[in-house]
Amino acid sequence: MNKLQDSALLKTSSFINGGWHSNESTFNVSNPATGAIVARVSNAYITETQLAVESAKSAFAAWSAKSANERATLLRKWFDLILENQDDLARILTLEQGKPLAEAKGEIGYGASFIDWFADEGKRIFGDTIPGPSSDKRIVVIKQPIGVVAAITPWNFPAAMIARKAAAALGAGCTFVVRPATQTPLSALAMAELSQRAGIPPGVFNVVVGEDARGMGKVLTQHPDVAKFTFTGSTAVGKTLIAQCASTVKKVSMELGGNAPFIVFDDADIDAAVKGALASKYRNAGQTCVCTNRILVQENIASQFTQKFVEAVANLTVGNGTDDGIDIGPMISAQACHDVNKLVNDSIAAGATAVLGGTYDDRGENFYQMTVLTNVTNDMPIAQNEIFGPVSPIITFKDEAEAIAMANDTIYGLAAYFYTRDIGRVWRVAEKLEFGMVGINEGIISNVAAPFGGVKQSGSGREGSKYGLDDYMEIKYLCIGGLDN
Ligand code: NAP
Repeated sequence: MNKLQDSALLKTSSFINGGWHSNESTFNVSNPATGAIVARVSNAYITETQLAVESAKSAFAAWSAKSANERATLLRKWFDLILENQDDLARILTLEQGKPLAEAKGEIGYGASFIDWFADEGKRIFGDTIPGPSSDKRIVVIKQPIGVVAAITPWNFPAAMIARKAAAALGAGCTFVVRPATQTPLSALAMAELSQRAGIPPGVFNVVVGEDARGMGKVLTQHPDVAKFTFTGSTAVGKTLIAQCASTVKKVSMELGGNAPFIVFDDADIDAAVKGALASKYRNAGQTCVCTNRILVQENIASQFTQKFVEAVANLTVGNGTDDGIDIGPMISAQACHDVNKLVNDSIAAGATAVLGGTYDDRGENFYQMTVLTNVTNDMPIAQNEIFGPVSPIITFKDEAEAIAMANDTIYGLAAYFYTRDIGRVWRVAEKLEFGMVGINEGIISNVAAPFGGVKQSGSGREGSKYGLDDYMEIKYLCIGGLDN
């Protein structure tokens, strides 16, 4: 941390109502590449979480009453400060999460782009006028901010998953409380420090950091003053949190797990497909929700694709994310490596072949070898579960119908990818894939202008784009009568 240009960005306690709240109890944040302790963070509990919700509730009246222009000016200051401090924020992110510095810098820029976007989008919250059912009536539709928004976010994108939610919430006129993942609280707290410097009023953006996920989660999902709950994380935890939100009938949006198929048809540009698969699979050491989980290759080009793909994967440089020239950092924890290794071993026992890697990496307990498996079938555990690690199972298919059936044979529906040069196939396959986002001849699909989100058990709601504000607004209809007199 001594390499930070602005050491005041390293905060270690919860940010509530514009102030820093610490207590005696602490937990350690460690660098996944080395195990070294990066910071000791003050442990917030239920009481602090309740306080944060109450502050957000108090701040709502004034924040929602500001004009969209006034809110945009403050959001733009926050955006500018994030970009001015991008190098420091990236370093903090790499130290707590592990991804290479260049990738961390990219995440900071990606997250900031949502603040820029929703600063403007807040000015375009348009209503409607609708012809009334009789001549003495007019119908007017207005949109209003929903109120206090509570969020829980994961460790794999410690900054961007918060920015994507907070930007839309604040742009819409809502106030916000987030509980980041225990492993990665520092990026969230640095964002809070910059929100304060930007002049965002106390209580509008609150961050509570603590190990008590269940207790704090209950406050955020059950508190009567929370109007909307938004979660990014696993499908299993998402289901629990949806159930908890039922008691107060909160509006809910869920960005959950994925199992992305990456289909390569025999008319594809194979080099482009290799490049796309590499980017989609191995970014963040395979720990993204839109990661390629299964590579489906048409059988007559399977050996050609596999050879080129294995060569490309073997060329990736793995190491400590803060070192120069690193493509891939560690996984988040030793447990995450064990989970991936079990999926690999179970698949090998069921008939798969490791043509590259296939076990732990000797760089440390959080590193797993870049792995490619062949002879995989779609019913193997590695194909049916979210791998969340640097492993590519390759499955072959005969024709388009079989590829689509295999691709859709999963409970998840977040992202899918396919490569083809046939325009008819582009439309046919895109329309039949049961996923919220489809990359066609493209392996990197996330950007601020596009609606991000899934179908099936990958969740509900959309983040980013012109649709992203809808999750933070209520529609109100005004019936104006007595106009004939
Ligand atoms: P996770 O285990 O579901 O945890 C996510 C967050 O939920 C963390 O902050 C965690 O806190 C908290 N949490 C866990 N159990 C809880 C409970 N009972 N009550 C309240 N909060 C609870 O997921 P993860 O392993 O961190 O993240 C990976 C998952 O996120 C993957 O499935 C990935 O696909 C998904 N994801 C989805 C998207 C998307 O946009 N669709 C984006 C990124 C990631 P602790 O840290 O304290 O455990």
